[in-house]
Amino acid sequence: MRALTWHGKRDVRVDTVPDPRIEDPTDVVVRVTSTGLCGSDLHLYELFGPLMDEGDILGHEPMGIVEEVGPGVTALRPGDRVVVPFNVSCGTCWMCSRGLQSQCETTQVRSEGSGAALFGYTKLYGQVPGGQAEYLRVPFGNTLPITVPDGPPDDRFVYLSDVLPTAWQAVRYADVPDGGSLVVLGLGPVGDMCTRIARHLGIPDVIGIDLVPERLERARARGVTTIDLKAHGRELGDVVRGLTGGRGADAVIDAVGMEAHGSPVGRAAHEVIGWLPDVVAAPMMKAAGLDRLGALYAAIDVVRRGGTISISGVYGGAADPMPLLTMFDKQIQLRMGQANVLRWVPDILPLLSDDDPLGVDGFATHRMPLESAPDAYATFQRKGDGMVKTLFTP
Ligand code: NAD
Ligand code: ZN
Ligand code: ZN
Repeated sequence: MRALTWHGKRDVRVDTVPDPRIEDPTDVVVRVTSTGLCGSDLHLYELFGPLMDEGDILGHEPMGIVEEVGPGVTALRPGDRVVVPFNVSCGTCWMCSRGLQSQCETTQVRSEGSGAALFGYTKLYGQVPGGQAEYLRVPFGNTLPITVPDGPPDDRFVYLSDVLPTAWQAVRYADVPDGGSLVVLGLGPVGDMCTRIARHLGIPDVIGIDLVPERLERARARGVTTIDLKAHGRELGDVVRGLTGGRGADAVIDAVGMEAHGSPVGRAAHEVIGWLPDVVAAPMMKAAGLDRLGALYAAIDVVRRGGTISISGVYGGAADPMPLLTMFDKQIQLRMGQANVLRWVPDILPLLSDDDPLGVDGFATHRMPLESAPDAYATFQRKGDGMVKTLFTP
C-alpha cells in the first residue's frame, strides 16, 4: 500500500510499504477514506527527529471502511464505517473505564513516562503505524473504533478522531463560569474548534489570539473577538484585561504548545533562563521578548487571579519552565493532557447533524490526494496558502 513515511527533519515521503495484517484476534483493518494533518504531526516533522526511525508511518486522524476483522471481533463487520481515535486505548482497563483513555494501562508507554500509545507517533508513543496510509491496522476492534452512519460526507465525522474531542476537553477543562470569558491562544485547527465549541456551549466572551491573518479572519467571521499577536504582542495582557473588566479572562486555553518558541534561539534561551528562580527569570524573559513568544507565559499573564488555564498544546519537557511563584500567587488552576477521545464522543456525536452547529462540513481548508502530503506538510509548517485543516484522500 501507499503510506506517508518519515525520513528526516522536514523530509516525509509517500512510499510503498507492506499492507497491514490482522495480528491479534481483536484487530481490524480499515481502508482509510479520509485522514487529517495535525499540528502534532508538525512536531515530528520539525522537532523530534532524533527520536524517530526512517520509514515510520505518520498520521493519527483517520476514518474509513472496515475491510477485515479478526476472529475475536463481534462489534464490527466488513463494510462498517468507522472513525479511529488517536489514542490506542483498550476500553476495559481501570483508566479506560473511568474515561481516562489517554492513560490506558494496557497500552501505556511506561518507559517514556507518557500516556497511552498513539497511532503514528513512532517509538515516542508505542511505535504504532499511523493512518496517513491506504490501510490501517486497528487493535481493540470491539471497543476502539467509533461507528458512524453512512450518508454524510467524511468531513462530518473525521474530526472525531482528534480535533473535536481535543477541543471539547480543552473547553470543559477550562471550566468557564456562567457568563464568563475565555481566551483561546492559537487559532490552528484545535484553537479554532475550541472557539466554536465555546460559543456553542454558550460562553459569551470568546477571544481568539494568533498571528496568522487568515486564521484570525476565520475566527472573526464566526463572531469571535480576535487579537493579532503581531500588532499587540507586547501589551497583550493589557489588551485582554481591557476586554475583560480589568481582571483578565476567567479561563485561557493554550492551543499552541511548543511551536510558540520553536526557533532554536527561543528554545535555547528557555532552557538556560528557565532554570533560574522566577523573580530573576521573569524580567530576563521579558527583556529578551520571550515572554510574548511562549504562549504559556501569555496564558499565565492574561488569566485572571483564581482563573483556569487549560493546556491542549503539546510541550516538550524541561524546555518549558514554569513561573511557579507567579502561578501560586495568582492561584491559577491548571489542567492539561492528551484528549480522552472516547470519553467525549457521546457529547459530540449529536452535534454532527445536518444543522452542523460547529461548522465541521466546511472546516477543512484543503483536501488532496495522499500523494501530495509532503507538499501539504511544508505548507502547513509555514502556515501558508490559507491552510488551516487538510484532509488527505488515500
Ligand atoms: P497549529 O500548529 O496549526 O496551531 C498552532 C497555532 O498557534 C498557529 O495558528 C500559530 O500561528 C499559533 N501561534 C504560534 N505562536 C503563538 C503565540 N505565541 N500565541 C498565540 N498563537 C500562537 O496546530 P493545531 O493542529 O491547532 O495544534 C495545536 C497544538 O495542539 C499542537 O501543539 C498540537 O500538538 C496540540 N494537540 C494536542 C492534542 C491533545 O490531545 N492535547 C491533540 C491535538 C493537537
Ligand atoms: Zn491530531
Ligand atoms: Zn485501557
